[in-house]
Parts: sequence; structure tokens; C-alpha cells
Amino acid sequence: MTTLYWLRNDLRLSDNPALSYAAEQGTVLPVYILDKRISRQMGAASLRWLHDSLESINKDLQGKLLILAGDPQTLIPDVVHQYDIENVVWNRLYEPETVARDSDIKKQLLEQGVQVRSFNANHLWQPTEIAKKDGTPYKVFTPYYRKGCLVAGQPRFPLAKPEVLKLLQADGGLSVSELNLLPAVNWDEKMMSYWHPGEAGAKELLADFLAGPLFNYKNERNLPAVRATSRLSPHLHFGELSPNQVWYAIVDKCNIEGVALDSPDVDCYLSELGWREFSAYLLFHFPQMVTQNFNEKFDKFPWRAAPQHLQAWQKGQTGFPIVDAGMRELWATGYMHNRVRMIVGSFLVKNLLLDWRQGEAWFWDCLMDADLASNVASWQWVAGSGADAAPYFRIFNPVTQGEKFDPDGDYVKTWCPELGKVPPKLVHKIWEADANLLSACGVKLGQNYPNPIVDLKASRQRALDAFADMKEAQ
Ligand SMILES: Cc1cc2nc3c(=O)[nH]c(=O)nc-3n(C[C@H](O)[C@H](O)[C@H](O)COP(=O)(O)OP(=O)(O)OC[C@H]3O[C@@H](n4cnc5c(N)ncnc54)[C@H](O)[C@@H]3O)c2cc1C
Repeated sequence: MTTLYWLRNDLRLSDNPALSYAAEQGTVLPVYILDKRISRQMGAASLRWLHDSLESINKDLQGKLLILAGDPQTLIPDVVHQYDIENVVWNRLYEPETVARDSDIKKQLLEQGVQVRSFNANHLWQPTEIAKKDGTPYKVFTPYYRKGCLVAGQPRFPLAKPEVLKLLQADGGLSVSELNLLPAVNWDEKMMSYWHPGEAGAKELLADFLAGPLFNYKNERNLPAVRATSRLSPHLHFGELSPNQVWYAIVDKCNIEGVALDSPDVDCYLSELGWREFSAYLLFHFPQMVTQNFNEKFDKFPWRAAPQHLQAWQKGQTGFPIVDAGMRELWATGYMHNRVRMIVGSFLVKNLLLDWRQGEAWFWDCLMDADLASNVASWQWVAGSGADAAPYFRIFNPVTQGEKFDPDGDYVKTWCPELGKVPPKLVHKIWEADANLLSACGVKLGQNYPNPIVDLKASRQRALDAFADMKEAQ
């Protein structure tokens, strides 16, 4: 019997429940479809990543991945018909549009007498498994994670790669290159030197993280100049590694080192995986949050239209070094450190008073790890409009954040080399330097580095006033 295994964001052979099940049944026809109908198409950076990731998995599948582009709702039944398939399997996705699409396809296939099985492969706890005592979904992270997830039971133990994989070589299909995922203009060469998409690259990165940064994670994860986090996010998004593999690799490492799982560094890292779960959970239960404020009070918030400020933010030309460094890191590498994501987000939404959806859209296009649930939930968290969000009145000051988390200015100087000679005590507030110092450091404000585009104090007050007006209008 041939089983059609439909790959989506599960581009790996090990710990792949759908693939393992298919392999046990007999011959497997692996199919990937670039879905042209889904409304949120991937951004440029994600497409670039996908190209290499598909090359990698196709190689692991002995070049037998059937690659298609179009509408899965017509293409899956077509392939089923063409190859007389009796069995279709996939690993579940939890984004609202994919849930609706997959249940339509399942219904259609069942009506045709085809068996369909789906599996949980990419989450530690499925969004459907966790609920409050009254049956409603959690809206606050800590009880969701500590009272919901951790009490619900241990995550699924990872599966090994199927020992025997008998693959069907289908006719036709496209090559990875024919999907046209690569950019027309060659902006990606340097960017890709930071990454190694695919299952092998993901495993290498995990091993590096376990070998060092894990046991300093709690203190160092906020320092953008230090390589202290795992950088697994794009690999987890594309499913080149499962969170279960990460979870149990950490359990193993802790057993070997005699470190308790609830020690501060380990607990902190595992809870970050929990935030990934929580984001998917929120989006599953509150699908409107992709475009609408989770907290409806923000529907009355007076966002400004200021295209020049938006552009200055996007290009890393705001005159606030930690903000500019973050936006330039994103542009150059397709990644930004989490602490800096929060700083640039707060600056956009609060100091510039621009709608969080504009920031979300830019991140969506530029991030290698762009993930609908994590991106939308995090942007709403930063904006104050989300579930369990940072209160709106907590406005990150980019100067004090810079001084605290990048005390020597190493991160700023990496991405804003024009500030390379500025002493640490002024590197986060360059506008306070006197003319002699600026000249000695080769900085010409307004020429080779911008003047600040807003006054920090006044823009902070403007945000607080707008928030107070919004509350009054309720
Ligand atoms: C405005 C904003 C937008 C964001 N957009 C995305 C996005 O599109 N995709 C994305 O994966 N993450 C997003 N994040 C969350 C977080 O910044 C990244 O997951 C993290 O920086 C990835 O780096 P890492 O793999 O080294 O993380 P680590 O610190 O090594 O964490 C391990 C893993 O936990 C998960 N994780 C960590 N923090 C979070 C978080 N706050 N929310 C959800 N998952 C988390 C990620 O999968 C990450 O790989 C966003 C955060 C902010 C503030």
C-alpha cells in the first residue's frame, strides 16, 4: 500500500510521527505543496529559508519529494487519484486558515473513501489539550504553562528516524528551483552565511547550545552582544527539529551533568519553549488576533500615520543606536535578538505611535523565523493590546535598555560601525556628546549618523496621553 505523506512545516525525518506511521504501512509518497491560496503568503526571508530547507529534505528523501505549487485542496485529491492512494497522512498545523483548509481536505478525502490520519509533531502540548477548570482557554501565560501544560503530562517522547523508508518516485513535479523561492536580486548571500537550514543544521545548533549557553541562559539571554540563546527559532518554525527533541535533549543533558530541570537556567529556557506553545495556543483559540486587537479597547487607539518615521525605523535610521542596531541586524541576518525585538517594538508602537500591525508586517517579511502565532502574539504583547501583555504605560527607554543590556556598546558597534569609536558611556545617547568628542570619533550627526527622529521624553508623554484618552473613551 502507498501512503501519501503531505509535508508542511515538518521538514525532518526524525521525530516525525506522520512519516513514521507512513513508513510502517509500506511505500511512502512524500509530497510538498507551495500553497498559493493561503492568504498570508510567506515573506521574503522565509521563502529564502524554505528554498534551502526543501533542498535539504529532498536530498534526505533520496530526491523523491514530489514538489508542487498551487491549491492543496485540488492537488492532494489529484495525486491521490493518479497514484491510487488509499491512505493520506500529515502532521497538524494550528493556524486558523490551515486548520480550516486541512479539515476541508480531510472531509473531501474521506468522502472518496481515502483514509486520513493526522498527528501532533510540532508542539509539546496541543492547543486542544489545555484548558482552565471551567473549560475556557487560558489568557495568561504563567497559569497556562505551570498549571495547564506542566500538569497535563510529559511531552511526547521523540521518535527515531524510520529504519526502513521505501519511497515512491512520482512522475512530474517541480524542482525546488522551479518554485522560484530565491530572490531576483541577490541580497541573500551574506545573510545565508549565518545559517544552515535543514535538519542537520538544526541538530548542530542544538548541540552547540547544549555544550555551553544553556547553563548561563537566565542571566545572559538578555545580552544581545553575547551568543547566549539557541537561535533555533527558524528551525523550529519550519519543523526541521521538534520542540520535543529540544526538550528531551535538555533532559538528557541535565541528567548527564546532574543539573535539576527546575534549576533557573533550564527552567527559564524550557519556559521560552512554553511561550512558543502559548502563542500557538492563543492563535488557535482566538483566530481574530491575526489582524484585530486581542484587547478590543485598543480599537479606539489613535495610531499615527507617519510613513517617514516608519521608513526610518525599518532602515535603522532613527538616531537611537540600540533601535538602529536591531533593525540593521534584522536586515542583514534575517534575525534579531529577543531583547532588541522588544526594544524596537516598544519604540515603534509607543515613541512613534505607529500601529503594531505595521511592525508585524515588516518582521513578517524580514524574519527567517517569521511565525504567524509568535509574531502576532509578541507584537500584541509589546503593544499592550495582547493577552497577558506588557502594560501600555511600561515604555522601554532605548537609552537605559541599551546601557543595561549592551553596557560596552558592542552590539551597537557591530551593526552601527559609524559609532565604533564612541566611548561606552555615550554610545547609547550619542546626541549628548559634545562637538569635540563627536569629531574625535568621526561621527557627524545628521550626516553619517542620524539625529534622533523624536524627543524621547515628549514622545513618551504623547503615548501616555493617547493611552489615557483611549481609556476615557471607553
Ligand atoms: C516583536 C516580536 C516579534 C517576534 N516574532 C517572532 C516570530 O515571528 N517567530 C518566532 O519564532 N519568535 C518571535 N519572537 C519571539 C522571540 O524573539 C524569538 O523566538 C527568539 O528571539 C528566537 O531566538 P532563539 O531561537 O535564540 O531563542 P531562545 O532564547 O533560544 O528560545 C528558544 C525557543 O523558544 C521560542 N521562544 C523564545 N522566546 C519566545 C517568545 N517570546 N515567544 C514565542 N516563542 C519564543 C523560540 O521558538 C525559540 O527558538 C518575537 C518577539 C518579539 C518581541
